[in-house]
Amino acid sequence: MTELHKNYIGGEWVGGEAVPNINPSNTNEVIGEFARATRDDAIRAIDAAAEAFKSWQHSGIQQRHDILKGTGDEILRRKEEIGRLLSREEGKTLAEGIGETVRAAQIFLFFAGEALRLSGEVVPSVRPGIDVQITREPVGVVGLITPWNFPIAIPAWKIAPAICYGNTVVIKPADLVPACTWTIVDILVRNGLPAGVINLVMGKGSVVGQAILESPKVNALSFTGSVGTGKKVAEASIAVMRKFQLEMGGKNPTVVLDDADLKVAVESTANSAFFSTGQRCTASSRLIVTEGIHDRFVEALTARIKELVVDDAVKAGTHIGPVVDQSQLDQDERYIKIAREEGGKLAFGGERLNRENPGFYLQPALFTETTRDMTINKEEVFGPVASVIRAKNYEEALEIANDTPFGLSAGIVTTSLKYASHFRRNSQAGMVMVNLPTAGVDYHVPFGGRKGSSYGPREQGRYAAEFFTTVKTAYTQP
Ligand code: NAD
Repeated sequence: MTELHKNYIGGEWVGGEAVPNINPSNTNEVIGEFARATRDDAIRAIDAAAEAFKSWQHSGIQQRHDILKGTGDEILRRKEEIGRLLSREEGKTLAEGIGETVRAAQIFLFFAGEALRLSGEVVPSVRPGIDVQITREPVGVVGLITPWNFPIAIPAWKIAPAICYGNTVVIKPADLVPACTWTIVDILVRNGLPAGVINLVMGKGSVVGQAILESPKVNALSFTGSVGTGKKVAEASIAVMRKFQLEMGGKNPTVVLDDADLKVAVESTANSAFFSTGQRCTASSRLIVTEGIHDRFVEALTARIKELVVDDAVKAGTHIGPVVDQSQLDQDERYIKIAREEGGKLAFGGERLNRENPGFYLQPALFTETTRDMTINKEEVFGPVASVIRAKNYEEALEIANDTPFGLSAGIVTTSLKYASHFRRNSQAGMVMVNLPTAGVDYHVPFGGRKGSSYGPREQGRYAAEFFTTVKTAYTQP
């Protein structure tokens, strides 16, 4: 019998129906049993967070710093162990799993510092003799709902600022990947976080997530996931007039111009499209390539993809792990079929693969001769599938790049300062990359998108304060 990993509500570990966490690299392997929370558990968690907020909002910044610092240090110390757990749980490679774990630690350490840098402003009033003081206060009970594709980094980049700025938390991780969030909560608790300040409820979105959405006691809700669920979060939040923040899907373009360094173009697009099995919101799935370099680029990228080893996430030498589960694999295969039916040419890949153990292995797929209006170029696949679109010139490439309801990340590969600068200014995306993959961001600067990809204030860095605090303007006549 493996030990049951319980929910954490009001300072107590609370059991529930045991759900096995399955390794997508080897579906015979159970990583652990995790307790499924009920709707009542979620309601109790929200009540506990509301009760704890009464005192936590006044907690000292040294205390918050020390808890966040201790947590970041412990995650860093245990990066190999937690990174391996992450890779076994989600299927990204061990290097990616450890890298993401280090990132989570860095985020906690960054917000440990931010706790000490809280400040406000004192400004003169337009009315003589009056002082005006502008301060930031915590929002209250914050609901955090996270997706499966970054099992530790996304929970970290929501939990750390929430606590730093004096809020209390109810977190529901994606049901596919509870282990990493469970580990963060366990570490926070052992590093002195008082009862009720964080509450963990693992389970189904339609039950536990929905209970969080519907509660008027949740004062702010930060969500990362699909557009469909994001819309539900928005509607429910407006119904109770709460602050909310959404980070959702993408259909991120990379423009490759005739003057690009071919090696940079191939490495950055192979990384953007296929690493982490293409399961990144910032993955680039539309490669918009101008005429003069098109054929050379397709040939070189195809050769590069052929070298990528798809295998067990924790095996040495693996470049691409499995798809996360059967339903995501079905979705990837469905889009591959649609792309072929609509006239895309499959230059490479797209086959199911068998490996030593049963897992959701899929060969990366590259389509060529696609057009902007094909389904494959309009909808997010969220798998190792990319397509090439020909463009006459830079102007047409930019126009195609912006022709999407999404706007998270966008890249250009060029040696021209003129085109790089023009793209930086005119790309309708929240994040622009020049000669770099569209995925891969820093943790001390804002993260987020435009149009259908994001709603509300940015996450991460100092900009996180916009969401996790509320501003008070006080007028005093001494
Ligand atoms: P999802 O929308 O299915 O689930 C996200 C979370 O919402 C999960 O915890 C889920 O259980 C919960 N949920 C589902 N139904 C709910 C409901 N009715 N009420 C409340 N919660 C509910 O998304 P996913 O499949 O886990 O993640 C993949 C998506 O996330 C992709 O579209 C990807 O682009 C996006 N994503 C975006 C970013 C970003 O920062 N923009 C980052 C990572 C992933």
